[in-house]
Amino acid sequence: MGGFPGSVSPEQRARMAAEAEAAAIRAEHDAFTGDTGLREDREIEVARGETLASVMRRAGADPGDVEAVLAGVGKIFDARRLRPGQAIDVFFESNGTEAKLTGLAFRSEPGAAITVNRTFDGAFRAREVLMPLTFEVTRISARVEKSLYDSAIAGGATDREVRQLADIFAYDVDFQRDIHPGDAVELVFERFHDDEGRTVKTGDLLFVALDARGATKSYYRFRRPGEANADWYDASGKSARKFLMKTPINGARLSSGFGFRRHPILGYSALHKGADFAAGSGTPVMAAGDGVVVKAGYNGGYGNYVRIRHTDGYETAYAHMSRYGRGVRPGVQVRQQQVIGYVGSTGRSTGPHLHYEVLLRGQQVNPMRLKVPTGRNLSPAELDAFRTERDRIDALRVAHQREAELRGAPRGTVIVTAAAAMPSEGAIRGGFR
Ligand SMILES: [Zn+2]
Repeated sequence: MGGFPGSVSPEQRARMAAEAEAAAIRAEHDAFTGDTGLREDREIEVARGETLASVMRRAGADPGDVEAVLAGVGKIFDARRLRPGQAIDVFFESNGTEAKLTGLAFRSEPGAAITVNRTFDGAFRAREVLMPLTFEVTRISARVEKSLYDSAIAGGATDREVRQLADIFAYDVDFQRDIHPGDAVELVFERFHDDEGRTVKTGDLLFVALDARGATKSYYRFRRPGEANADWYDASGKSARKFLMKTPINGARLSSGFGFRRHPILGYSALHKGADFAAGSGTPVMAAGDGVVVKAGYNGGYGNYVRIRHTDGYETAYAHMSRYGRGVRPGVQVRQQQVIGYVGSTGRSTGPHLHYEVLLRGQQVNPMRLKVPTGRNLSPAELDAFRTERDRIDALRVAHQREAELRGAPRGTVIVTAAAAMPSEGAIRGGFR
């Protein structure tokens, strides 16, 4: 990100704000300590099982000072939140023969730091400093290597975006079988990051694309005028929602982690007549579409079993579950994505997994080959509004793509770019997810 001569880039502004804050802390420190001696900064990494007290002792603080610091810090920070590997700066003042603890500083969470300073009366005063956060629209473009999940997280997305992505694609992607190494994923989302580039909190996900074996599918976020929640549409304005879901489990929770680990007995075959999803026991199972429960009970080798009747002669069945969703019994109406049970290993099963069948007029069909009518689409007026939003998002994507090209990032690496960056107004507090 350049910045024109004479102007100040958002990064520079953020750095200046951070420097001003650091200078203020130094001045405060000096005022409190009447600092005349030699300052020394000892950076200590928290070891596994270590406490704030043992870190200070290891740095060389005397026991009385350690007690005084803990008394000060305890008012604003729960020391149990310290994590192994975390860095703590411990400050000393030396007169040549002995070093006296004057304070410490560490990150309490992304976007916030704790500083502790000795006051004139020998007590220690602690306060929490909030970093200036930068807001930006970020684009992640990555080749899937180990897993889709890891690639997205490495690019600065959070669990929240990955779960959303899995929800959006649950209608046309089988997350256990359709994603392979070398496939590509693209995410465009809003985020706040700290001065070290770490994502502190995310806003809306705006765009998702998945290129699985060369077949690309992409969806744009759009909120219909007058509706509370946004939904997802392809470039032509067709809803991402389909009549039935291909993966009736959130793909982010599959035990293979969007993986490529193939279970020898899993997958669709003419004999097997269903699709198996290996997932942890207790993972929620969703109704693949709107319908009426026709069976919810034990069913021989299928174990705990639910069958739902949809329109146009379609039914879906879910087997081996550990238990049923609340209120799920024959005759009850269910909505698409409603939790109808939980993954288990009941009946004839080798381990926790969901056995999922789609039936058309009583015959099992391969859910992965399913060509079923799609959900609700946009009216002409809504379509106009959608196109405006789609073009806005595409313009952001083009700007990001150009930035990535100029940086010359090698193909296949995670490319993260940011446009429209600007520091947030002051520090935020309590907005962390
Ligand atoms: Zn099965």
